[in-house]
Amino acid sequence: MGYPGGIGFSELLYHEHANLLNAARSLIEKCPCAYGCPSCVGPTLEVGKSAKEIVPQIIGLILGK
Ligand SMILES: [Zn+2]
Repeated sequence: MGYPGGIGFSELLYHEHANLLNAARSLIEKCPCAYGCPSCVGPTLEVGKSAKEIVPQIIGLILGK
């Protein structure tokens, strides 16, 4: 932890939960890479070649759409 007690992002992110997940899904879907990259889901050597396809589905299940 860089700052004891945090700097206050948690409450904001809790309230912006749906917007945050929608933004993440949009970023992933618009990324021009084929299987995932450090700009969207992470490097394929760490997350596997199916992460770019699966992560938006997980976000959809969390958001119910
Ligand atoms: Zn990417």
